[in-house]
Amino acid sequence: MSEPRTDVPSAQDEVVGICRDLIRIDSSNYGDGSGPAERAAAEYVAGQLAEVGLEPEIFESEERRTSLVVRFEGEDSSRPGLLVHGHLDVVPAAASDWTHDPFAGEIADDCLWGRGAVDMKDMDAMVIALVRQMRREGRKPPRDLVLSFLADEEAGGKFGAHWMVDNHPEQFEGVSEAISEVGGFSFTAGDRRVYLIETAQKGIHWLKLVAEGRAGHGSMVNDDNAVTALAEAVARVGRHEWPMRMTPTVQKFLEQMGDALGIEVDLTNPEPALAKLGNLAKIVGATLRNTANPTYLKAGYKHNVIPQSAEAFIDCRFLPGFEDELLATIDELIGPEVRRETVIQDIAYETTFDGALVDAMLAALQAEDPGSLAVPYCLSGGTDNKSFSLLGIRGFGFAPLRLPADLDFSGMFHGIDERVPLDSLKFGVRVLDRFIATS
Ligand SMILES: [Zn+2]
Repeated sequence: MSEPRTDVPSAQDEVVGICRDLIRIDSSNYGDGSGPAERAAAEYVAGQLAEVGLEPEIFESEERRTSLVVRFEGEDSSRPGLLVHGHLDVVPAAASDWTHDPFAGEIADDCLWGRGAVDMKDMDAMVIALVRQMRREGRKPPRDLVLSFLADEEAGGKFGAHWMVDNHPEQFEGVSEAISEVGGFSFTAGDRRVYLIETAQKGIHWLKLVAEGRAGHGSMVNDDNAVTALAEAVARVGRHEWPMRMTPTVQKFLEQMGDALGIEVDLTNPEPALAKLGNLAKIVGATLRNTANPTYLKAGYKHNVIPQSAEAFIDCRFLPGFEDELLATIDELIGPEVRRETVIQDIAYETTFDGALVDAMLAALQAEDPGSLAVPYCLSGGTDNKSFSLLGIRGFGFAPLRLPADLDFSGMFHGIDERVPLDSLKFGVRVLDRFIATS
């Protein structure tokens, strides 16, 4: 075997440019099929990978709703493959709210600005840049690396990951594990840098509540008013105090954080300890219990007409293992007069924080940021890892970024002035390089 070549552009040289190119391709997902869709971004990625001799395959669930997959053969293809996936779409951005044009990919204050800078054209770019370097150097991953860049994550993956899993599971044949977004980034707690690795995700169950009553004139006595019945049910749901439920991931997070920072954590009442973690509390707070938030109401059409029915929409999120409890509680709260219908449902997901792949993550972070701590955490939202878990793939959020202590990183997701420090992108490439090499 020949020595790797070193006279080629490195991933650290290319990562910022690739991320910038991707930000400049507007792939806003409005969730209703309007918008520019993902084809242009997918074609760009395919071009970057084809340039180094890979042959990505393109899939379209609908016109322009484009995903791609490519297998980068490893040293030992008999081992189960590792999937590295990223979505190509972004949430929309209103340019007038931003300091820099969200689709210009401007560099200012040592950051790359734009929609997708952290969610998740950053990780897409890190992976593309790294793979380009490995190919040019003639380096192979230890096992097959399946790279997938997907449409429609921001609207639940119906036209992206879910569609791929349903229609092209053969593309992920033999894959045992996956890494992707919303994990691997650092928080600074006290004087300690802590990397959060996502090992669990809450499930989603969007409900519509429907009350039916007797329509009539607004001047009459009406003891069967749908608006009244619905309002009572909505108020009970909205005011319900959901009991704390400790899941393995959250327990491990609290124990490890407590140990590292010397904070006493009472697992039966962790909120006081959590309050000492600053910004971290926001992220972890929502993973201590199920939640159900009324978000909008629909009833009536005229001031003096009592409508026959009224509807409310509730955004419910449940912890892994607690969906049945969520629905039973909702049924109790809304009572027999109001019925519930499922609008959108997606699974919760949880894996353990152990094994060789986790060891590879920890070692890579430790090598690039000695003295840091890495802990598992549960995401209150969801990623495409849910879809891939249906194929038996064990998914982690591991898109490594070392971040400045004062950056409100969780606020960057879908936020105004989304940006990523240039140094963080380069750090991420170095960590991923070590990680892939030992995966
Ligand atoms: Zn994302």
